[in-house]
Amino acid sequence: MNPIMGSLKYFNLLMVLLNFLATKPIFTKSSSFTSKFLDLAKEPNVADWMVDIRRKIHENPELGYEEFETSELIRSELRKLGISYKHPVGVTGVIGFIGTGTSPFVAIRADMDALLMQELVEWEHKSKVPGKMHACGHDAHVAMLLGAAKILKAHEKDIPGTVVLVFQPAEEGGAGAKKILDTGVLDNVSAIFGLHIANKIPLGEVASRSGPFFAGSGFFEAIISGKGGHAAIPQHSIDPILAASNVIVSLQHIVSRESDPLDSQVVTVGKFHGGGAFNVIPDSVTIGGTFRAFSKESFMQLRQRIEQIIIGQAAVQRCNATVSFLEEEKPFFPPTVNNGDLHGYFQSVAGSVLGINKVKGSQQLMGSEDFAFYQEVIPGYFFLLGMENASVERLESPHSPYFKVNEDALPYGAALHASLAANYILKLHQEVPVVEGKYNDEL
Ligand SMILES: [Zn+2]
Ligand SMILES: [Zn+2]
Repeated sequence: MNPIMGSLKYFNLLMVLLNFLATKPIFTKSSSFTSKFLDLAKEPNVADWMVDIRRKIHENPELGYEEFETSELIRSELRKLGISYKHPVGVTGVIGFIGTGTSPFVAIRADMDALLMQELVEWEHKSKVPGKMHACGHDAHVAMLLGAAKILKAHEKDIPGTVVLVFQPAEEGGAGAKKILDTGVLDNVSAIFGLHIANKIPLGEVASRSGPFFAGSGFFEAIISGKGGHAAIPQHSIDPILAASNVIVSLQHIVSRESDPLDSQVVTVGKFHGGGAFNVIPDSVTIGGTFRAFSKESFMQLRQRIEQIIIGQAAVQRCNATVSFLEEEKPFFPPTVNNGDLHGYFQSVAGSVLGINKVKGSQQLMGSEDFAFYQEVIPGYFFLLGMENASVERLESPHSPYFKVNEDALPYGAALHASLAANYILKLHQEVPVVEGKYNDEL
């Protein structure tokens, strides 16, 4: 054996030891009952059951705040499992409870809504509702949370607290999370976990990061008004098309000239409606777009500058402008910010469920996720669950009409949900002895 091989051997030994330490859960009391969760989730009575539920929901997609049949299906499965729940919470939402019914309370969340788009995947369980499709995998999210519920219910006696199942409406722009929070049903929850399936992450892996993860997102719309007239006599008109064009160019200078290049932000104008004839200057033009940032401060700065620039630049061209941020129809989504303490906890638990080499870091993502509303008031953690099996097929991105779910991912999601909730309750139970009467045990 040469010296390099020798030192490699010790290096490998060290790595094995480090891996062992890294995967060792940070909670001390034995939580061995959760170590079987992935095997349990892969058993046909859980895995096939989740697949059936997911396909049923997939065939009957419902939009935000219209998830009536999805909600009924969830409630009927919870009843069959003997799990108590509150309904309706936030129109169609269902909140289930497993455990003692007393603190500590730890929540796991799934979204239920579909998208307004036509499915183009031809398969046995294709959407039966024309123009509506589960193209973001929320059907799978519901199935995984029910899978976790089934596993946790079977271990209810081992849980010294309460797992709160959150089936929320309207993630796709409707801020269903905010609606759930506004009811107060999660007021005593100590932590909340959520996931999203990801087409570009291998099956059996997860990815996440500490701190800002998904961007905060808002929308704007502006009407820029001038004075219409004959295109050949521009001196008698005030041209809103030229004004809107200048507005759009100026809006692009916010991110390029005013923002910190190390603080990622986006301003995109995605809508420009004005005029209808070749030889007419129209009265007005409507533009609209979205803006994104990873901190509330940057987000509010963008909002303020978008309004100032639209009004100011329109005035340069003698036009009037009104700006709306559509807060009623399309509420702002805050940035999705993962709690730093929960990051270490997540890595430890996910590492013990999947193997530490399957727990990956992630870049920040410019998409947004209404899980952020929970994180504003409850320590929360969101992660991506891989479902790609490159040897079988490449999966399309969410919101594609060709989006498909690799149903082999369902047991991983169920086991992670169940393990994250149960172990966190054990951890809290050990850290904070519950003093009778000192805490509000009611949820
Ligand atoms: Zn989506
Ligand atoms: Zn989604």
